Amino acid sequence: MKRVFSGIQPTGIIHIGNYLGAVKNWVALQEQYDSLFSVVDMHAITSSYFQVGSGTHIAEQLKESTKITAATLLACGVKNIFIQSQVPEHAYLMWIFSCISPMSWFQIMTQFKEKKSALNGASLGLFAYPALMAADILLYKAELVPVGDDQTQHLELARNVASRYNGLFGDFFPLPQPLYTTGTRIMSLRDATTKMSKSAKSEMSRVNLLDSPDEIRNKFIKAKTDSEGTVKYDLTRIEVANLFHILSEFTGKKPEMLEAEYRWGDSLAFKQTIAEVVIEKLRPIREKTEELMKGDNLFEDLEKGRQKAGELASLHIKEIKKTVGFTV
Ligand code: ATP
Ligand code: MG
Repeated sequence: MKRVFSGIQPTGIIHIGNYLGAVKNWVALQEQYDSLFSVVDMHAITSSYFQVGSGTHIAEQLKESTKITAATLLACGVKNIFIQSQVPEHAYLMWIFSCISPMSWFQIMTQFKEKKSALNGASLGLFAYPALMAADILLYKAELVPVGDDQTQHLELARNVASRYNGLFGDFFPLPQPLYTTGTRIMSLRDATTKMSKSAKSEMSRVNLLDSPDEIRNKFIKAKTDSEGTVKYDLTRIEVANLFHILSEFTGKKPEMLEAEYRWGDSLAFKQTIAEVVIEKLRPIREKTEELMKGDNLFEDLEKGRQKAGELASLHIKEIKKTVGFTV
């Protein structure tokens, strides 16, 4: 059975872009594949400690976000979840990968360039992020990686790293392939030229899975649209098209079908309709997450995933250590 691996950063609360682009897919895939999913807290610190004076406060936030992210994934129905930093082999393998990869592979990463300009600089960790992502996947010899299309470049780099290792030491790693969802990338509600993102500054740019009904209504009603007062599914009207995509994903109806229902309708009424659909779809997830956060069993629920990840990681690292000439 092929193995699937994917991860999500605890950089905030899971939003509908993550849900539609990744998590919803994970739940379906785990029935067909041998799967492992990770809350990648080591990735989450690539930017957060970059600001001087951020230390203790961010550490508390990270711990809380990691718990909430894990609880939200459980509430969505994801099984075999573990927390990345609890399996130290990820960092170990990343170092080996960093030493066999040319820097030029990293210099062309568009996400690095975007995040760097948003932060006015970048840590070495942010630059090396794709090497850690390659380690996350290859540590488990995963063949399939369900991600949104914002990860295409990173995954290609993971394949290059695997080929380079195999070329140096003989075949060991499979070349991981992306598994995309059929849906379109969900864009920010404030600026439809950028994707919806957990770490974007504006809370109004994203709808989180744990938002209250009032917050969801408010975010959709205030979502930026163009100056035309009526709606139409037209890909050149990027803000309205994004709203159609969100509604389409949550209703399972194609945008073209929705177009027939809503075309020339008032854009405020359209936004209100979407808000109500999303509120109802997210309600059970929010309630279940709150229940998990209140109980004491969260880490017990994560134990199975951690054990599975830990066993595979230590098995593969033993072989890798021998291969690269480290004493065991
Ligand atoms: P950050 O801003 O901290 O990078 P993020 O929102 O991009 O957060 P990630 O943890 O980097 O979230 O990604 C988790 C998964 O969600 C990945 O598989 C990614 O491809 C997917 N994803 C992220 N944003 C979107 C989006 N706007 N639409 C669809 N899928 C997305
Ligand atoms: Mg991201």
